[in-house]
Amino acid sequence: MAARQEKRAAAFHQEYLEAQSRAEQIRTERDTASAAFERFASYHAQLDGDYCCPRCWIERNATAPLLPKPSSTREDVFECRDCGYRIAIAH
Ligand SMILES: [Zn+2]
Repeated sequence: MAARQEKRAAAFHQEYLEAQSRAEQIRTERDTASAAFERFASYHAQLDGDYCCPRCWIERNATAPLLPKPSSTREDVFECRDCGYRIAIAH
């Protein structure tokens, strides 16, 4: 009887540890997502007349200029100086 109770307690403890580790993982993911969202929300404030790369801003919290590239279409094409991200803006 006592051995069974002990086994049961050990199983619950194991389950508790797993849930705790999963909760920790979820919290990290939540913090990462919410930090990225906050940077996204503040992205427009960083523009200040110049285009800067949204990918560098969101992923690295860095401002990198988007440089105009020649385009054969009716779009303005910009490329990030740092990561090479390309963005086309129709006009
Ligand atoms: Zn970039």
